[in-house]
This record gives sequence, structure tokens and C-alpha cells, in this order.
Amino acid sequence: MPDYDAIVVGGRAAGASTALLLARAGLSVLVLDRGRLGGDTLSTHALMRGAVLQLTRWGVLSSIVGAATPAIRHVTFHYADGIVPVELGASHGVDALYAPRRTVLDPALVAAAASAGAEFGHCSNVVGVRRDGEPVTGVEYRHGSRTEVRTARIVVGADGRRSRIADLVGAGLVAVAANTSAFIYGYWEELEVSGYEWAYGDRAAAGFIPTNDSRTCVFVGADSRRIGRDGPGVVAALTAAASPSMSARLREVAAPARLRTFPGQAGYLRSAWGPGWALVGDAGSWKDPISAHGLTDALRDAELLARALVVHLRDGVPEKDSLGTYQAARNRLALPMLRIADRIATYRWGPDRIRVLLGSLNQCMRDEVGLLAGLDPT
Ligand SMILES: Cc1cc2nc3c(=O)[nH]c(=O)nc-3n(C[C@H](O)[C@H](O)[C@H](O)COP(=O)(O)OP(=O)(O)OC[C@H]3O[C@@H](n4cnc5c(N)ncnc54)[C@H](O)[C@@H]3O)c2cc1C
Repeated sequence: MPDYDAIVVGGRAAGASTALLLARAGLSVLVLDRGRLGGDTLSTHALMRGAVLQLTRWGVLSSIVGAATPAIRHVTFHYADGIVPVELGASHGVDALYAPRRTVLDPALVAAAASAGAEFGHCSNVVGVRRDGEPVTGVEYRHGSRTEVRTARIVVGADGRRSRIADLVGAGLVAVAANTSAFIYGYWEELEVSGYEWAYGDRAAAGFIPTNDSRTCVFVGADSRRIGRDGPGVVAALTAAASPSMSARLREVAAPARLRTFPGQAGYLRSAWGPGWALVGDAGSWKDPISAHGLTDALRDAELLARALVVHLRDGVPEKDSLGTYQAARNRLALPMLRIADRIATYRWGPDRIRVLLGSLNQCMRDEVGLLAGLDPT
């Protein structure tokens, strides 16, 4: 008998969400993460409507709100030829967006999954998979100086965009993107901001994202050659290139001592499953962060994968049918978004073209919310 129904490798947005749903369905789950609980990670963290819908349904939004994460009810788009404010209407039970720090979001998901019965092993670095013939049957991991083996009916790779599990199982590529953005971001205090603000200017993008501790996450994105190494100078120059209004407000306040740089990574979509394994979140699907959508997609795919695993592991539906359905649904939503993010990441657009691209991205988000809202809540 395997030790668990499922072992999930990676315990952040995708992994903790998948574990939460599997545990609530009565399955035994072990989550292994090489990091420690509650640590930060390289990521800004604007959530879109699909993610807030999921967090609400799962009963996790109250911890996000309880951590004084500000509610976002306005979005402002800054284009080279004008500023477009948008009021967020209520729909599908969501009347505000949120951008919790990863030190708030990820532990909230872990706490919910743990209270549903999932076991967590942090500081546990998965280094290998066990197989019985072709099917994957377990993992080998290092915890301190010990090497441990645990077995399961399914191993889920939720281990991010450098997924070890994807490598170990040889998950094939379904699609790859051609362009990459690099980013610099940090946390400003006392910045005047009105909800999410997104700017698309002269070969540069910028964003203001209100978050916990009365701070605003400020980012700039561009081709990696423009991001360079002079963090504060680049943030000032690219914000000015993206939006004079945002640049003027940024000049009023002091820059933080610490900025983080992301050098860029091209988007991809990998096969989502094989015998005894499945991938979820960035491990299976990564798009340029200019879409600000990876977390929302990670939560969406956790829901789709958990549903597929429950009918496979609990109800006996064959893997190829249940996980094949997961892959088809994920690809239908993820592929168009990957392609649009890839076009935005060229940074070769004027105001008309970027409006069209953002309109297409918005349509993808509507499709995603429509699918999530239509799922049977039981
Ligand atoms: C610069 C930047 C900005 C972004 N901005 C946004 C944004 O505004 N909005 C948004 O929605 N998304 C954004 N994203 C994307 C978002 O960060 C990801 O989509 C999200 O983190 C995916 O979550 P995940 O759980 O799949 O992976 P991760 O958050 O990467 O978690 C993977 C986990 O797996 C663990 N792990 C890895 N290897 C192993 C191993 N061998 N053994 C055990 N554990 C392992 C890691 O420790 C980690 O905890 C941004 C990304 C970047 C880089």
C-alpha cells in the first residue's frame, strides 16, 4: 500500500491549494517543500477576479482580509495617449481584488490545507522520483542530513518554474514563448495610489499594487537590456517612460533600500500529466509576468487538477480520462493567455495595439471566471 493518496512537491500557491482541495475530499496528502514556511519569494502578487472567487469559495479570503490586505476597487490604465480609470463591478460574488504579499497568501493556504488534514514537510528537498516500471510511485527527498522515501498513488509537481518533477518525469513541451520581460520591483511607503495602476509607455511597463503594511509594490518591466543593474535609477527612468503621472508621484517619496530583479524567463506549457504524475501551477504552465496572472492561474489549475484527481483516486475513473480532461481544460485557458503575454512582452506596441492586447487578455480572464463560476461547488 502506498503511504499516501497524493504527494505534492511544492507548498505555495499551486501546491497548498491542491493539497487543500484533496484533503477536503478525504484523500491523504503529504506536501513537501524545500523552503521554510512563511518565507517570501521572487514575485509581485496582484490577484485577479478568478483567484478572489476561488479564495472566497475555499474560505481563505477572510485570512487575507484579516491580515489588513487592502481591497482594490479601482483599476487605472495609463497609456501614451491618455488615462483610463475603471471601477470594478461586483460579479460572481467578488466585489474587490486583493494583492496579498506571498508571506500572507501562501501561509493562509497552508493553514487551510493543514486544518483539512494535509501533512506538510518543509525544508524537504525532493531529489528523485520512485517508479514501478513506467508509473511514478513516490519521491525521494532530503531533510537535513537524512534521505527519505515516501510513496503515493500520484505525485504532483507544484514546484515552480524550475520544476524538478517536470525534469524527472520528462514532461514534454506543448508550447513555448519567444519573448521575455525583465522586472525590478520593491515596496514603497506613503505613495499616493488609487487601486491597481498599470502603465504601458515607450517600450516599458510599470505598475502600482497596493498591498499589506500600507505599502505599495512598484514594478517596472521591459526588455532585459533596459533593466540592467542600476535598480533605483532604472525604476525612475522606466516609470517616467511608462507614465508621467505615476512618475511624478513616485518622485515625491523615498525609494526603498531593497529592490528585487527578475531577469526574465520565456513562457512555456508542458504536458500536465503522465502515469502516476501531474503538474500544476508554474511547474506546468508559465507565462511572462507582464500578464500579472500566474497566481490566479495556479489557483485555477489547482481546482481543475484536484477535481480530476478526486474522480480518479476516489471514484476510480481512469487516469487518462480524468487527467486528460484536466489537461484539456488547462490548455484551453492557458494557451491563449501565454500567446497574448508573449505579444505584450515584445514591448513593441503603441497605445492602440496595447489596448487590443489587453482587451484580449481581459477576454481570457472572463473565460476563466466563467469556467470557475460554472463548476459544481460540491
Ligand atoms: C517578477 C515576477 C512578478 C510576478 N507578478 C505576478 C503578479 O503580479 N500576479 C500573479 O498572479 N503572478 C505573478 N507572478 C507569477 C507568480 O509568482 C507565479 O505564477 C506563482 O508563484 C506560481 O505559484 P506556484 O505555487 O506554481 O510556484 P512557486 O510559488 O514558485 O512555488 C514553488 C514551490 O516549490 C518548492 N520547490 C521547488 N523545488 C522543490 C523541490 N525539489 N523539492 C521541494 N520543494 C521544491 C519551492 O520551495 C516553492 O516553495 C510573478 C512572477 C515573477 C517572477
